[in-house]
Amino acid sequence: MTAWPAAVLVREVGPRDGLQDEQPLPVADRVALIEACVATGVRAIEAVAFVSPTKVPAMDGAEAVMAGLDRRVDVVYSALVPNRRGAERAVAAGMDEVEVVVSASETHNQRNLACSVADSLVGAHGIADLARTTGIAVSAVVGTAFGCPFEGEVAPERVGQLAGHLVDAGAGVITFGDTTGMATPRRVHDLLDALERVGMGPDRIGLHFHDSRGLAMANVVTALDRGITRFDSGVGGLGGCPTAPGSAGNVATEDLVHMLDDMGIATGIDLGATIDAARLASRLVGHDLPGAVLRAGPRTRREAQ
Ligand code: ZN
Repeated sequence: MTAWPAAVLVREVGPRDGLQDEQPLPVADRVALIEACVATGVRAIEAVAFVSPTKVPAMDGAEAVMAGLDRRVDVVYSALVPNRRGAERAVAAGMDEVEVVVSASETHNQRNLACSVADSLVGAHGIADLARTTGIAVSAVVGTAFGCPFEGEVAPERVGQLAGHLVDAGAGVITFGDTTGMATPRRVHDLLDALERVGMGPDRIGLHFHDSRGLAMANVVTALDRGITRFDSGVGGLGGCPTAPGSAGNVATEDLVHMLDDMGIATGIDLGATIDAARLASRLVGHDLPGAVLRAGPRTRREAQ
């Protein structure tokens, strides 16, 4: 049997990646969801995005959300920032970490960020410089790292090259996003091989899977076999990508924690509290969510006899 990692970091992205495709929620509801996620034991959370409210109405009021939280010192609250203006707002709001985002596909980058990949990289340098002077951590997200809904295949070598540029810019950890659920276990191996070739070890790699084609959990297991210890997930399986047709939610946090628990891999996250947070998320957005364990309950559940 493969030696799985003893522990992994599960980063909750429901309040940002998840909610950004929903009808805008009141600030109080967004605060409640973040607090419910933190109460599960999650120690890294993508809480908000500092983006234009006309482009992403659901992320309007990020400052008010952050001000409404009872911040914990042992939790890393991160914000996605598309540009320097967003980074300045994130600094002013006292974020622990800013995330710069670049797509591996030129077309997706244009649709998502309205600029070229090269310009995004220049922007990433500017954001990282600003963060450095203010003592805030910088991470990076590479979108469409496993394929693009517009361009199709994205060569793992290209993703590796981009990762190298982001490391040069000062990004500590790089998260590779399967924006539209095009990853498969084979492609997870291909990308990790390519990253290995450019000298990126598992300690600097995070993975972000969407379950559009039912393969998110298979991809997680493949990555665990390769020693990856950072995964993004969203409670209830919230989320999709507005600029990616047919994309579905993030891998559900409760599904991930449920599986990791049974594999003996520590997360520090309480499964019952995660299911509660997923229920809250479902109530707040006003519709059912796809999380499997949210529906079926954990495998330890017993029917009344
Ligand atoms: Zn995502």
